[in-house]
Amino acid sequence: MNYRGIARIVPSMSTLEGDGVAIRRAFPTRSLDDIDPFLLLDHLGPTELQPGEAKGFSDHPHRGFETVTYLLDGQFQHRDSHGNHGLLGAGDLQWMTAGSGVVHSEMPGPDLVRKGGRLQGFQLWVNLPRRDKMIDPRYQELKGDRIPTVQKDGATVRIVAGEALGEKGSIQTRIPITYLHLTLEPGAEHVQFIPSSQNAFAYVINGEAKFGEASAKEGNVVIFSNDGDQVRISADRKTNVLLISGEPLNEPVARYGPFVMNTRQEVVQAFEDYQQGRLGRIAS
Ligand code: FE
Repeated sequence: MNYRGIARIVPSMSTLEGDGVAIRRAFPTRSLDDIDPFLLLDHLGPTELQPGEAKGFSDHPHRGFETVTYLLDGQFQHRDSHGNHGLLGAGDLQWMTAGSGVVHSEMPGPDLVRKGGRLQGFQLWVNLPRRDKMIDPRYQELKGDRIPTVQKDGATVRIVAGEALGEKGSIQTRIPITYLHLTLEPGAEHVQFIPSSQNAFAYVINGEAKFGEASAKEGNVVIFSNDGDQVRISADRKTNVLLISGEPLNEPVARYGPFVMNTRQEVVQAFEDYQQGRLGRIAS
């Protein structure tokens, strides 16, 4: 068992997305395209919203990958072209497999719009292997109290997907994925087993995380090298971190906006299908 080194530490970039949602984009940025099999990580907020101020992401399509929404604060609702409708609250998770395609909207929930309040969450895009790009769309939703949470030596580990400290998450992934939310009290340490075949990174939500000799602050993306099968994260003050890993696909990526396929021709086809209404519409 060896600890992994750190390949790179990369800052996130503040920007606006959707209808004007303040986010920190961990990647893709000018300095970091992707971390195979992960295509994007956005940190929504944290923002203190006034009544009527909340914004979202109105109708848009996806094809060829999965979108994972994990909300820490606030309320979001989604609607899609297959008639699905759901409301996410603080701590809740939605794992959407877009597969062959959906049109959906992700908008602030009615309470957040009316009363304002704190918004904070994450959206992760997980690429699908070539064999799965055109599978039927699927939703997995978990209320926060159904996400396994394990505490050990000052570390609280929420298992969004995968396995940690002998507990397993219930989300079914198409390729092996681990997605953990760590809350470290001052002096706490968490050691996580991650097979060396998997790509792994950490995102520091707040505080300051230490990885052996190196440390990273709020908004930093820490990419581990593949030279070991464990990572070690500690903190001297209260710190929240996402720790995410997955088996790389090592397949060509043809990407344009909301479509991620293997060839340019497949992306053109996705646009055509969307424009012809073949991904459906959201019934109002
Ligand atoms: Fe979306």
